[in-house]
Amino acid sequence: LPEQEAFDIEYWLLEEAKLQRMPKPKSMAGRVALVTGGAGGIGSATAERYLSEGACVVLADIDEVALKASSDNLSGRYSGDVVRTVMMNVTDEAAVISAFTDMSVEYGGVDILVSNAGIASSAPVEETTLALWNKNMDILSTGYFLVSREAFKILRVQDMGGSIVFVASKNGLAASPNASAYCTAKAAEIHLARCLALEGAEAGIRVNVVNPDAVLKGSKIWSGEWLDQRASTYQTDKDGLEDMYRQRSMLKRSVLPEDIAEAAYFLASEASAKSTGNIINVDAGNVQAFTR
Ligand code: NAD
Repeated sequence: LPEQEAFDIEYWLLEEAKLQRMPKPKSMAGRVALVTGGAGGIGSATAERYLSEGACVVLADIDEVALKASSDNLSGRYSGDVVRTVMMNVTDEAAVISAFTDMSVEYGGVDILVSNAGIASSAPVEETTLALWNKNMDILSTGYFLVSREAFKILRVQDMGGSIVFVASKNGLAASPNASAYCTAKAAEIHLARCLALEGAEAGIRVNVVNPDAVLKGSKIWSGEWLDQRASTYQTDKDGLEDMYRQRSMLKRSVLPEDIAEAAYFLASEASAKSTGNIINVDAGNVQAFTR
């Protein structure tokens, strides 16, 4: 190579290497995300993943003590006023409207909604009271509708697109024993996501679903009545259940809150810009395995 050309190439390579070493801009910088069920295992992990990419998060929940613990934990690790909380029951229409209005005033809007607040409560069909059935429908279906509706209103006015992520369940696709109310409500969530994806597409509002398989670690669901019901259905204890879920998956691995958070990050980020109305099963390969 002529001397000048060799020099140019070397200079260019050095400049490239410098660029590689420079801190990368965070992919969610300036974004505002509302996470319902933000005091729970999956909600907290998702909020943390978003914070790590520079987003501001609003944790919404009904459990005041857990909400404070989750917020204190996250605020202690991310500087700036990037973690806020709101007490919001997703089944309370007035509370949902007011929370979204407050977000518009405080943050100037919302870019990402993670609809994740949930319970798990079911019984054999003959023992499923109307109250139990309605509880599942109210929180898991109506609640997802209410928060999505309010998010849609803001996203449309902002006219900058946006992303809604539903944390549904593998049980919304496949039946689970003695859990018809929960499974049906989760199936409704999934279909609501498809319908909203169609409605939002023209405005660039994407709606996608993460379906976890059992996530025992960090989940409050797995310390209450759901644990007793599953333990009784499968005749084993918590460790036995965790082992059972792991063994029946293709990968023979337990699913963790961080795994769901990673999928929820992908679906809310530009990396999934061409995906809407879709589902990611984070299940270690359980949904497609015929092992039990
Ligand atoms: P979690 O109990 O740790 O968190 C759920 C949070 O939702 C709690 O903080 C709870 O207070 C809150 N919540 C409940 N009802 C609410 C309401 N009406 N309004 C506002 N907040 C409410 O459980 P998790 O494992 O983090 O579950 C998160 C989501 O993932 C749920 O929708 C659940 O159905 C789904 N999911 C969980 C599993 C699992 O095995 N953990 C599996 C599949 C799907």
